Amino acid sequence: MSKSGISPEPEMITCPMCNRIQNCDVLCRLEKSWAAHGGAYSILECRGCNQVFYQTVSWDGNDFDLWNDESGTPVCELNRSESIYPAEDKATPSQSQISKGGRLPVADWEAAMVEMARALYSGDLKPKTQADIERAIADYLSKKEKNASESTIREHARPLWQAIGSKD
Ligand SMILES: [Zn+2]
Repeated sequence: MSKSGISPEPEMITCPMCNRIQNCDVLCRLEKSWAAHGGAYSILECRGCNQVFYQTVSWDGNDFDLWNDESGTPVCELNRSESIYPAEDKATPSQSQISKGGRLPVADWEAAMVEMARALYSGDLKPKTQADIERAIADYLSKKEKNASESTIREHARPLWQAIGSKD
């Protein structure tokens, strides 16, 4: 049995916690319109993370776009403004970087590779396999409290190992 007045179909809405468009159940929606403007007030639940959040979509009759469609019929579309609470991007940049898969900014990889070069040159790192390099990179990143996936580390270790390890 579906809740009365509520569409059982999820809608594609940007979830502020997932920070991307997700299937969201509309738990509650109230639409209001006045002479020239109106709004829809929705309580939504993300199917990805189960976060319940609030969305307001409002429009103003004096703010619209006019154009002609393929058949030359004039089309009028109201400009809608959307706001979500809690706001998107509420995570700090470093947290959201980690949650988005942990690819480090270029500068950090440069620093990591400089550290690998330093360790190789000084003899601190004497890799016998590519895995030794991967481990050294992972150690370095964890010391710097950086996060990177195994595959990203491998991606960076491979060319270094190919350059230094395939001599014999
Ligand atoms: Zn979500």
